[in-house]
Amino acid sequence: MKFIVVANWKMNPSSFREAKVLLEATRKAAESARHASVIVAPPAIFLRDLKKGYKGKKISFALQSAHFEAGGAYTGEISLAQGKDAGATYAIIGHAERRAAGESNEDTRKKVAAALAENITPILCVGETKRSNSGEYFGFIKEQLHAGLADLSGTALGRIIISYEPIWAIGGEKTMSPRDMHEMAIFIRKSAIEMHGDKGMGIKIIYGGAATESNAAQMLREGDVNGLLVGHVSVNAERFASLLQAIEGAV
Ligand code: PEP
Repeated sequence: MKFIVVANWKMNPSSFREAKVLLEATRKAAESARHASVIVAPPAIFLRDLKKGYKGKKISFALQSAHFEAGGAYTGEISLAQGKDAGATYAIIGHAERRAAGESNEDTRKKVAAALAENITPILCVGETKRSNSGEYFGFIKEQLHAGLADLSGTALGRIIISYEPIWAIGGEKTMSPRDMHEMAIFIRKSAIEMHGDKGMGIKIIYGGAATESNAAQMLREGDVNGLLVGHVSVNAERFASLLQAIEGAV
């Protein structure tokens, strides 16, 4: 059994030289992690050269974001085809930081479809900003899922990863409780089944938000998830190596 571990480097590091050093450390750590498939999402500007210089087999590469259009007058954007040409086989879609900058549910719907058309695996991020006891966040997540998964066929569900990321946990050191994640995983599957029938049962779900070397194993054991999306810990080579090591202990 292999867990998916997405290393979202965000807008780090500040130079290609440092990115190469970080990738080399990530490569070494990934090679000794038998139960993890590592996907690195570097800044797009480093992607092609990192991929070219990478000689291993354990790491795949992802875009942190992409436009749904194939080309045109979209200053500053990159297309999924361009990302693929540079070496990406995955694309993060609807990350909380992109949604905060204006990415809508409708955009995620188009991006998921465009990624699948390019044979790129979409990693669709969903998550609520805050929680209250009334459980209104379930409705919010359902809306995000219904939009993001609207254009799929049931069979395409097997080619998509849902990253559940409660925004209130992102950037900290403490995840949500694995028990609450378990509840959310059941809800996500139920929503996928509602939309696409029994195939929804097998949808891949990962957790993101303050995943660290200290809490990764427990989340994987008890959270009912297929892996983790890791932000700030993934750009600290030592901590990321410890996180991958910790995952070995979760198996
Ligand atoms: C994220 O931003 O997707 C994320 C999971 O970040 P962090 O691990 O830093 O909470």
